[in-house]
Amino acid sequence: MAGAAEVTLFWQEGIQRSSLFDGKKVRSRFVDELIWEEEKQRKALLVSGQPPLTVTPCPVRPMPRERRGLLQTPPLRQRMKTVLEAGLSPTRLDTYLTCPLRFAFAYLCRLHPLEEVNEGDDPAAVGQLIHQVLQETYAPYLDRTVHVGDISPDQLGARFVAALEASPLRHQLPPDSYFMLELAGSLRLRRYLERQPETMHIVALERCLRAHVDRRERTYVLRGTLDRIDRRKGALHVLDYKTGGIVRPKATIWEDTDFWQRMELWTPRSATCNGAELLAETAEHLPSVQLPCYLLLCSQAKLGPVRDAAWVHLRENGEEIFLLGEDMEEMLRDAVLSIRIPALLGFIIQHMETTEEFSPRAGQHCGWCPYTTLCLQ
Ligand code: SF4
Repeated sequence: MAGAAEVTLFWQEGIQRSSLFDGKKVRSRFVDELIWEEEKQRKALLVSGQPPLTVTPCPVRPMPRERRGLLQTPPLRQRMKTVLEAGLSPTRLDTYLTCPLRFAFAYLCRLHPLEEVNEGDDPAAVGQLIHQVLQETYAPYLDRTVHVGDISPDQLGARFVAALEASPLRHQLPPDSYFMLELAGSLRLRRYLERQPETMHIVALERCLRAHVDRRERTYVLRGTLDRIDRRKGALHVLDYKTGGIVRPKATIWEDTDFWQRMELWTPRSATCNGAELLAETAEHLPSVQLPCYLLLCSQAKLGPVRDAAWVHLRENGEEIFLLGEDMEEMLRDAVLSIRIPALLGFIIQHMETTEEFSPRAGQHCGWCPYTTLCLQ
């Protein structure tokens, strides 16, 4: 420096921490001394931002990231063929509806989510346990009529506590979660029992069914396991035990004639109706096709006239939330069961089979998607 004609010194100021430059975040005493000498000479304090103390701006921005889709290449098309031949489950259809890219990662690329040690609650295992308890409770009543009072709340609560004690959850859950679950689980099952109808005939429990979906000279296979089928007032009602959240469809969706017409008329080469847009609209209005799938599976099983399907909201008060509801006009109900549901499922499957690209559909669901780092590039 002593021999230089001009010297520029750089230092960082006003920075608390930086992983990039873990050096000093204040100027050195050497620089302070130089400044002090200069100030003495000028008889004035030097101000940051004015020569000779200039500021070098260094804006740092994150690298821009965007979600990218996956083209349906010949290997993916081949894998899709295998997936379709094996039969689609409601879960797979829901995954596609929620995000086609997630479906491709999970079922075509077969990328398994990272396995991690679960140190908190385990909602999936709790759900399985409740399913098991209800299945065992109703098993003796299969093909029989259950009257209110046949199953006592105490009996159901005690069965849950015994099943919980025997399950691996006893060792997996943190103690506070375990005791909370013991209390909350039996309480919710009691509440569920209070909301069950006076009489119902148990037609099937944990029944695996297959059905076909016809669409434009193609036939697709659908398969699924129904938690319970009841006969109530002479008609079949499918019940799905839900221990997680429920996203209800738009209230007027079944009456929206224009929407259903577009669904029925859509073809992969349709010039007037964009398949990706229609899929997104469907996902917005009808976020899950699980109950429509169950209705179709049940209809084709020829167990009797089918009327409705419901989620049993076990996470809350055991209320039965019906897909179509008692107030629906009979003509509309018939149209939904025989035309609209097959059209809905046929559209989704045909879109999946013929799409050129599995596009990302970002939303709240990305928060619990295991592929979020893959689609953000
Ligand atoms: S993070 Fe979101 S957009 Fe990306 S694959 Fe998952 S669900 Fe789709």
